Amino acid sequence: MAPDEIPAASGPRWQYLDRIRTRAGPFTNKEMFDGDAVVPFMDSMKILVIGAGGLGCEILKDLALSGFKDIHVIDMDTIDISNLNRQFLFRKADVGSYKAEVAARFVENRVKGVKITPHNCKIQDFDEDFYMQFQIIVCGLDSIEARRWINATLVNMVDEDVDDSLKPLIDGGTEGFKGQSRVILPTMTSCIECQLDMHAPRAAVPLCTIATIPRQPEHCIEWAHIIAWDREKPFPLLDKDDPEHITWLYQKALERAQEFNIPGVTYARTQGVVKNIIPAIASTNAIIAASCCNEALKIASNCAPSLGIPDENNYMMYSGNDSIYTYTFKHEKKDDCPVCGNLARDLDVDGRWTLGELVEALGVRPDAQLKKPSIRSEKKTLYMQFPPSIEEQTRPNLGKSLVELGLEDGEEIGVTDPAFATVSFKFKLRFK
Ligand SMILES: [Zn+2]
Repeated sequence: MAPDEIPAASGPRWQYLDRIRTRAGPFTNKEMFDGDAVVPFMDSMKILVIGAGGLGCEILKDLALSGFKDIHVIDMDTIDISNLNRQFLFRKADVGSYKAEVAARFVENRVKGVKITPHNCKIQDFDEDFYMQFQIIVCGLDSIEARRWINATLVNMVDEDVDDSLKPLIDGGTEGFKGQSRVILPTMTSCIECQLDMHAPRAAVPLCTIATIPRQPEHCIEWAHIIAWDREKPFPLLDKDDPEHITWLYQKALERAQEFNIPGVTYARTQGVVKNIIPAIASTNAIIAASCCNEALKIASNCAPSLGIPDENNYMMYSGNDSIYTYTFKHEKKDDCPVCGNLARDLDVDGRWTLGELVEALGVRPDAQLKKPSIRSEKKTLYMQFPPSIEEQTRPNLGKSLVELGLEDGEEIGVTDPAFATVSFKFKLRFK
């Protein structure tokens, strides 16, 4: 072995990685970089991966090969046979086992010296103390709701008096040939809630369309999902992973589709709409996961500037729909962001709207997307979804107009939603 081939501090497997992470390059901020400290620091740091699905498998593999040694992963799902085409850490024999568990064991076996701790549960099962132990959090999720929850939690955790309470959040997402990577420094840069309108729900169909005049198979499925289920309650609680429940919804949707002469309701589409499944392509996942993990490596080592540095670019979008196009830009923080801003957001309303119509509007507005909002004005509670006794007490308000309820132009309302327990969305009513 020639002298310059002497293994780096972390062992021969990592000598090429060490050349990148322990040496300053032309873009390295020299004031923030200490090449000798990188390996011990990365060996001891804890990084959390949320999601062990299509993106998560790639992220775990990439992080392990990028020199991270203490990785935790959260995923509540079990492996389905349909995952095997792209979630390459899983084999047929693993069907039915927990994704986090199987993925962790697989990567641990292949990359010696890496410890991966699986958590087979929901992110909401942990509190701030749990998230505080990590230095970086990487999300590979297919659910906006989970992203919003972790985002709000991390923004809440930032405390000027507590060292290391600011956790960089790296978020990857894909949809077919498109994807994005972004880095969020909670409270310092634009957060996921600031950027929510970039991810408008694909089919935000007003409830009235679903209830009265469906035009597409999705409308019939949503009708079965939202209206028929609620009316008939065939099972106490909808379990989107239970084939029996999906079959019930499928049959209801099919009946409705036949009534309106709409073709295209299938079991698979029912499952897709109800679970909001986004079509996944393995190679798009690989590209986005790789870019997320490179950002993690740069944040951990400071060997090169990462996305998300305040006043710099924080968002990379990738599109393979028409040839290949990527664009990196700075998404601005919003002063009226309900999570990281402190101003109430303007909400255009009509005084003649009923409170029920306002509730519906909060569900379809791209920058709100609140499915079960509870609303209070400055003076009183207008509508609460929970507990049932208060719901019943406040339900008559849904039929009253905003004017009847005494609401005025310029008045602030607070909106909460069980999906985002820690956040109160502030809106300022603007009467048309
Ligand atoms: Zn924000």
